[in-house]
Amino acid sequence: MKKVLVLGSTGSIGLNTLEIIRKFPYDFEITGLSVNQNIGILAKQIEEFHPGTVVVCNKLKAAELKCKFAGKCEILAGDEGLIEITQKGDYDIIVCALVGFAGLAPTIEAIKLKKRIALANKETLVIAGDYVNNLCVKYDTKIIPIDSEHSAIFQCLVGEYHRYIKKIILTASGGPFLNKDKSEFQKITVTEALDHPNWKMGNKITIDSATMMNKGFEVIEAFWLFNLPKEQIEVIIHPQSIIHSMVEFQDGCIKAQLSSPDMKLPILYALTYPERYEYDIVKTDFNKIGNLTFFEPDFDKFTCLKIAYDVIGEGGTAPCILNAANEISVAKFLSGKIKFTQIPELIEDALNSMTNYKKTDLESIIESDKRTREYLSNKYS
Ligand code: MG
Repeated sequence: MKKVLVLGSTGSIGLNTLEIIRKFPYDFEITGLSVNQNIGILAKQIEEFHPGTVVVCNKLKAAELKCKFAGKCEILAGDEGLIEITQKGDYDIIVCALVGFAGLAPTIEAIKLKKRIALANKETLVIAGDYVNNLCVKYDTKIIPIDSEHSAIFQCLVGEYHRYIKKIILTASGGPFLNKDKSEFQKITVTEALDHPNWKMGNKITIDSATMMNKGFEVIEAFWLFNLPKEQIEVIIHPQSIIHSMVEFQDGCIKAQLSSPDMKLPILYALTYPERYEYDIVKTDFNKIGNLTFFEPDFDKFTCLKIAYDVIGEGGTAPCILNAANEISVAKFLSGKIKFTQIPELIEDALNSMTNYKKTDLESIIESDKRTREYLSNKYS
């Protein structure tokens, strides 16, 4: 029986994780959950899975939940609650499905305890890849990616030598605006941007997919996870999202990992690796899929993707500035304060204006994140 801590249990990854665990009640046990503020769903999850501890980041909501579950379940509050539940260590696997910068601190604590890190929060590696990698070496901890592309590459690399990798090919659906003309981008509404053709995800990552910043982040994530220069990381548009990514080897052979697009498969793999469980929920019928198509991404149209590639070369806290600027811009777009086309503009503004500390220690990362948020919040309020 493996104990599982799920951070972000009411989001898309969190709900899918619980759905898998429901199928394997003799293999996995939920010992901890965390939510931002949705205590309605959390209350049901507590009653079903009986975790020993839960965290509610919103402190008022945490107090509300305490009245209901006093004596039955320990309820922690705030970001410090996330640290506390991770430090307590009552789990074998942590599923980190928090959104944005918030995922970093608990992941660090879990690495220090040598737990299995099932990582859905790609921002952790975007902002602090160098730091997190060093920590994983120091504590001999492995990150198993949940991001579907990285799970695919991880699976393709099982049994292979790193030195034989020629390149990795990240597939991208292209999002909802793949075939929209760039001149039309000005008029894109929040509703249009939230309508992703293949994947049902949270709002923040759905907007990131529409701008293709998500793919940019995934290039940075791959850079750290698979230890390859950016020249060996390629992005290809594959609108059907059946091939989740590929690895080309020195001899010209290419391995790909395929299935219907469903996040339950990479989550299950991260929970069971190196084993594979019998699971027949996700079905892939090639007769129904028909064609698989591929084409080059348009870096001119999706400037966020280009920005992300450029940032890898800059190093230091540049990816951290990129992430903070993106989080602020996406939030502003979602609340109607800026246009879709302003998202990359705000990001470029931040990258040009903020100091890159050229260091990757935790203090520099936190400071860089904070300053970028302040800068953009004040300038575009
Ligand atoms: Mg992905």
